[in-house]
Amino acid sequence: MSKTAPDEKLPALPIDWDEVESEATSLLQQYLRIDTTNPPGGEEAGVEFLARLLRAEGIEPSTYDAGDGRVSLSARLPGTNGAGTKPLILLSHIDVVPVEREYWNVDPYAGTLKDGVLWGRGALDMKGMGIMELLVFLLMRRNGVAHRRDVLLLCVADEEEASQFGMDWLAEHHPELLVADGVINEGAFGFGELLGQRGLIFGVAPTEKAPLWLKLVAKGRPGHGSLPHGDNAALRLIQCLGRIADARRDVVLRPETETTLQTLQDAGMLPADLAFRDPDVLKALAGASDLVRALVSNTVSLTTLTGGQKHNVIPARTEATLDCRLLPGEDVDTHLAELRAIVDDDQVEIEVIYRCPPLVSEIRTELLDHIEATIRHETAGGVVMPMISPGFTDSRIYRRHGVPAIGFTPVLLTTEEVGGVHGHDERISTANLRLGTQLLMDTVRRAAGTP
Ligand SMILES: [Zn+2]
Repeated sequence: MSKTAPDEKLPALPIDWDEVESEATSLLQQYLRIDTTNPPGGEEAGVEFLARLLRAEGIEPSTYDAGDGRVSLSARLPGTNGAGTKPLILLSHIDVVPVEREYWNVDPYAGTLKDGVLWGRGALDMKGMGIMELLVFLLMRRNGVAHRRDVLLLCVADEEEASQFGMDWLAEHHPELLVADGVINEGAFGFGELLGQRGLIFGVAPTEKAPLWLKLVAKGRPGHGSLPHGDNAALRLIQCLGRIADARRDVVLRPETETTLQTLQDAGMLPADLAFRDPDVLKALAGASDLVRALVSNTVSLTTLTGGQKHNVIPARTEATLDCRLLPGEDVDTHLAELRAIVDDDQVEIEVIYRCPPLVSEIRTELLDHIEATIRHETAGGVVMPMISPGFTDSRIYRRHGVPAIGFTPVLLTTEEVGGVHGHDERISTANLRLGTQLLMDTVRRAAGTP
């Protein structure tokens, strides 16, 4: 990827990082105020905001319109290698997930800043990272940082609803955007505390779990609530969901997760004598941590449950949706067959809403070497922790095309802050905006290569 020796500290740039922190804060505040909740998305407004910032610095972006306001954007910083060399891509998505307003302590779209913390939907997932990437891009240009590869900023629509109008649409209509040497995207955060221990752990995700979204439809005999019978669609559905929840799920220690747990052990965040390779120990560890459980097993979450219309009417039909996440290398059809066997009721149909083949990717890539060099030289004893991302991201589209894509949001979060992702009171500290921009800047300089 680059000839820069990964073990050198890069020369410092004349950047005032206090100013960068205020600029990042102000830009993210403005970005959070643009409501790009998906559905419906409305990413066009986000693209207009980003395009205005780029044009103000003399950079003309390209925009890609998939219709109905589903717009994506790219901008390029040419490298010294000239045309024909594959770029390094800084990827982010513009859309955000909806909020449950009543559970938030602040207006999720107001960009509220208090005590050095910026609150709002998208602060972590992933407008915050989008602003860090934009600033790295602008700072490279402002400071005339020479680099061999092109750096391509790519901000896309529709990541949160499986990318039909975003990355998948771009892959079909603008396949030139898939040509890349490497991609830096969301997928893993850093942790200032993990498993109850304090630390300086920077997660990087070279791979991720694959989503399998299912709808269960139960049918039964309708009737009057005063005359119960044995064919109630609501009861049928609940019993079958109970069987799914109770089903035994094997723990699997994949090589990626072995690396994750070994890293945590080496960093003193797991006891030195903990034999995590022992399946019983692993099972106990998974039982104590949602994150570990997600890394060692296929998971199923019940996400919606609907049915019934009136207090005294037995419904003829009830529905539930399941969000299943499969480990890399698993077979979707085998998993579906197992689920059908557990459901074991011909009055309950399983519909596949979305499926995606679980991909296995290389853990060791040059991009990871550059990230490790950054953490080694730019933090005080930070540790890089390769891991499977429990969530899925647009990286899967690049990995499918053989391009290494790494999830790397270099901020240090608490478990509570991580809970804001798709949850309530999502927020990021301005110190993390500064740290993330600094570390991304260093990684991009290394990965794009010094001439
Ligand atoms: Zn995201």
